[in-house]
Amino acid sequence: MSVWIEALCINCDMCVPECPNTAIFRGEHHYQVNADLCTECIGFYDKPACIEVCPLDCIQYLPAKSGPAAI
Ligand code: SF4
Ligand code: SF4
Repeated sequence: MSVWIEALCINCDMCVPECPNTAIFRGEHHYQVNADLCTECIGFYDKPACIEVCPLDCIQYLPAKSGPAAI
């Protein structure tokens, strides 16, 4: 489970200090989320803290993987 950041991100830095897992980092063009660290804030908050603070609503849930990968 993880969220991801769309290219609309303006690098405003508001989401970074909110992440309890330090999963957000500055990518080549905009901020990105390390999917190995993001827990969608479960255990910390009721909703993803980064989504709550992002002024552009450019952070989205990654679609959940469903079942085994197709061959
Ligand atoms: S959903 Fe929570 S854990 Fe994941 S990147 Fe956002 S603030 Fe961090
Ligand atoms: S709060 Fe939104 S616009 Fe700001 S750096 Fe994070 S993802 Fe980008």
